[in-house]
Amino acid sequence: MNNSWEKNVRTIEPYVPGEQPQDSNVIKLNTNENPYPPAKEVMESLNGIDGDMFRKYPDPLCSELTEALAEYHNLDKKNIFVGVGSDDVLGMSFLTFFNSDKPILFPDITYSFYPVWSDLFNVPFETKALDENFRIIPSDYYGENGGIVFPNPNAPTGIFMPKEEIIGILENNKDVVVIVDEAYIDFAPEGSSCIDLIDRYPNLLVTRTYSKSRTLAGMRIGYAVGSEKLISYLNDVKFSYNSYTLTVATIKMGAASVKSDDYFKKVIASIIETREYFSEEIKKLGFKVLPSSANFVFASHPDIKASYIYEEAKKRNIYVRYFNTPRIDNYLRITIGMKEDMDSLIEFLKELTSK
Ligand SMILES: *Cc1c(COP(=O)(O)O)cnc(C)c1O
Repeated sequence: MNNSWEKNVRTIEPYVPGEQPQDSNVIKLNTNENPYPPAKEVMESLNGIDGDMFRKYPDPLCSELTEALAEYHNLDKKNIFVGVGSDDVLGMSFLTFFNSDKPILFPDITYSFYPVWSDLFNVPFETKALDENFRIIPSDYYGENGGIVFPNPNAPTGIFMPKEEIIGILENNKDVVVIVDEAYIDFAPEGSSCIDLIDRYPNLLVTRTYSKSRTLAGMRIGYAVGSEKLISYLNDVKFSYNSYTLTVATIKMGAASVKSDDYFKKVIASIIETREYFSEEIKKLGFKVLPSSANFVFASHPDIKASYIYEEAKKRNIYVRYFNTPRIDNYLRITIGMKEDMDSLIEFLKELTSK
């Protein structure tokens, strides 16, 4: 810090997203994007847009999208909040709901954006260690706290928490907001979402993203589902910050996506099938693979360092994610892509493990 004006600058250690190589020849298995294209209905929804629609501001309430999502989830649009990806929705939620002097709680190994928002918004936090099998221990979250957030399935482990355990956490936390980040829930067994608990727990907020299961990471759409009261508090903060978050095109594409359910289900089924195939194949090569309910697997080899595999794979234009973080620095997070892509990775891992 050299200049006098810098003493009043907010400094923060930012979140580091996965690499986005611009070379189209890479096999990109590092940011959990969906390898399938968006549904054709999603692309067709843009046909109805003319220049005049871009001249005007978009609908600040994004009603077309909140109504489509409400219908999809069998809820009222007052139960839905939308944002620029679930990162925007989660950031707004931290700002709105985590204002206690007591620390919020989240797992030690989880989405690495949570500590960043905590720092940004001056939210005290405490992490709770996963058990030796990388599972969240529900009773760790029963004590006094300023709020709770965790993904289900967790990231980057892919491990899923059964609903009874989440109910246990909710029963013991009626005086704080509990956020369940369901970024990967569409890849988990059916019936595992917590959305149907929002009537019973008005302090439960469930967040979702279009980036993974809905193959629209580039459009930036996320949403939250919760009681009318929670959602109205979120809207008050949003409208105090930026009223027009989603573009005209984004709102249309987002609404079209939930209406093409057959395609959506097909895409999910293929990814799950490839995930199971890939997990079995790399287990044969000696990898330990955590049981995944997401569109990625978290894997480790007993004899070859994850950092080495990561670097070598990159030389072959195969990108996977490596976190140089205690406890998980010998693991790789590998996104499930097309079967051909996974086969290329399997071939490479075969060579590497047979050396
Ligand atoms: C990908 C991801 C998000 C953010 O998704 P957006 O692209 O911002 O919608 C949120 N939480 C977890 C756990 C994720 O993996």
